[in-house]
Amino acid sequence: MATTRRRTPWKAQDRDERAHELIEHILDTYGLGHELAIPMAHHHAANAGRLSVRSAARHYGLSCATWVSSATSPRCVDCPDENTPHVLHIRLYSKEEGRQFVIEQTGGDPGRLKYNPHEKDHGPRGFR
Ligand SMILES: [Zn+2]
Repeated sequence: MATTRRRTPWKAQDRDERAHELIEHILDTYGLGHELAIPMAHHHAANAGRLSVRSAARHYGLSCATWVSSATSPRCVDCPDENTPHVLHIRLYSKEEGRQFVIEQTGGDPGRLKYNPHEKDHGPRGFR
């Protein structure tokens, strides 16, 4: 582990496994495609949970939709009131379902993707 510490701060982080149990719970209880809404104390908790769920879904080989809502916004991004209760929304898909969803959104044209993984120059330095 020590040898990885010299890389970027992003890479040096330990693997985020905080949501692994949650993913297993969702799979056991609801299965794929079910939207789960989890009340959270404030914006940062909800967003941290969102990132952990994304990391865990990747670990399990699943696609997922995750977003954070508040009393004033169905998709809270630039938060106007961070210390109010928020809700973390999670929906898991199989990779194949995730692909199908993207195809439906883009009409099968990769050029219409919001983020195109085939464009190597896309995205900030260090995240390409
Ligand atoms: Zn917020």
